[in-house]
Amino acid sequence: MPGPPLAQRVDVAILGAGMSGLAMAVALRRAGRRDFVVVEQSAGLGGTWWDNRYPGAAVDVPAPLYSFSFAPNPRWSRRFAPAPEILAYQQRLAEAEGLQPHLRLGRRVVEARFDDAAGRWRIALDDGSSLDARAFVCSTGPLSVPRWPAIEGLERFAGARLHSARWDATVPLAGRRVGVVGTGSTAAQLVPELVRGGARVTVFQRTANWVLPRFDRRYGALDRLLFALPGWNRGVRLFWAATSEAFRRGFEPGSAAQRRLVALAEQHLRRQVKDPALRERLRPPYPIGCKRIVFSNDWLRTLARSDVALVTEGIARVTPGGVATVDGREHALDVLVCATGFDVEHALAVPVHGRGGQALQGAWHEGPRAHFGTSVAGFPNLFLMLGPNTATGHTSTLLFIEPQVAFVMRALAELERRGARWLDVRPETLDRFDAELQARLAGSVWMQCRSWYRAASGRNVAIWPGYTPEFRRRLGALGFEGFEFG
Ligand code: NAP
Repeated sequence: MPGPPLAQRVDVAILGAGMSGLAMAVALRRAGRRDFVVVEQSAGLGGTWWDNRYPGAAVDVPAPLYSFSFAPNPRWSRRFAPAPEILAYQQRLAEAEGLQPHLRLGRRVVEARFDDAAGRWRIALDDGSSLDARAFVCSTGPLSVPRWPAIEGLERFAGARLHSARWDATVPLAGRRVGVVGTGSTAAQLVPELVRGGARVTVFQRTANWVLPRFDRRYGALDRLLFALPGWNRGVRLFWAATSEAFRRGFEPGSAAQRRLVALAEQHLRRQVKDPALRERLRPPYPIGCKRIVFSNDWLRTLARSDVALVTEGIARVTPGGVATVDGREHALDVLVCATGFDVEHALAVPVHGRGGQALQGAWHEGPRAHFGTSVAGFPNLFLMLGPNTATGHTSTLLFIEPQVAFVMRALAELERRGARWLDVRPETLDRFDAELQARLAGSVWMQCRSWYRAASGRNVAIWPGYTPEFRRRLGALGFEGFEFG
């Protein structure tokens, strides 16, 4: 009988093989650092794009900006590429960069603990093996733990119950009565596809969302030819990066740019929904930009169809046969889909213990916080990718990943230059940074409604309050004076 698997000593352990984990792995390999592993709980790499296989899943920022600057992709079939193309991009990236030998797929990290005496991370996996790592990179991202709604009776539903982020394609939908809870970006992509597939859909809306048109288009052979030219690819990326930052002006409360966004949304609503009463039910009760804006050309139009029901009365409970609403009606359903998003506050579901055994979850009792979304005081050599306050509602999240990866590479080099084992952001450095962020967020549009950007305490744990270049510039120029070395 073979004994229990031994502890493997590695330089860097990466948790999660999504976009940010892969970017970290590529940077390590390109720098000649081969001593790392990537642990991924799913059976394949891809992260978000592995998990979110619901019909209609696609990226809703222009795909040329949803590829890494160091790995351009000339193959996109359209501007807003469907999910399988993004997964294929990730798989090609892993192949081309020789990442396969580093991947440990289908393995869960069950605990990570900083060993004060050794100055290293002890990371336990669910197969009984463990990793002993100098640095621990958590690239689980904010949107990885599906959130089921807290609705009474949900578990007693007798039909099939699905979460959009754990799609089960074997459940037949054509001709069946399908209820969808939620009206965010996911529902807006999913519902039109369900209807196209012949499902009889009832949408349960708690809050109406702002919807803007998606200026989509197919990329033809000529586009692909041009995208293969590095200069062209770079130019298109720059164009979309600049356009996204210009769009960001619309998030400034009271600005002319915000008024223009509202006018565009109103025009879109009027074009797609002719019935004034339905339009009224689809008008959001909060300022544009506060929740993630939905970009869609077929969501509102689908809700206006006579064979699609929009229910805006609150859900009282789920029954074995369907959903009962507060007006006393019961909506009979065969399938109940929860497009209810993610648990952002507890996105790092793994117990992580830092110096002196302190729990990260304890340190974050008021909600997650980290220096530039990357470093947490008391947790040496722990690097979060897309940690707290690195999300935006206006551009590609990859623009935040790249500076974070570059910072980790600099931090590793700095440790070696100083002959130190670990670095730890000082509490006062983190406090100062966090106070600045929260002060800037206080008057912002993102504090004017409830959304996944905010923790239960009301604190905004997700949004970067500035423009993207500021994040890249500041993190890129960050010195190590605010860190303690040991
Ligand atoms: P979400 O934006 O958090 O939306 C969840 C929806 O479920 C909301 O409409 C929410 O209503 C509703 N809900 C939650 N609990 C409920 C309850 N108990 N009863 C009734 N309704 C309930 O989640 P998401 O649509 O999955 O999107 C999450 C994020 O993922 C997006 O904002 C976006 O950043 C990203 N995303 C991106 C893409 C893309 O790029 N293609 C696609 C999908 C998602 P309330 O508004 O009232 O809370």
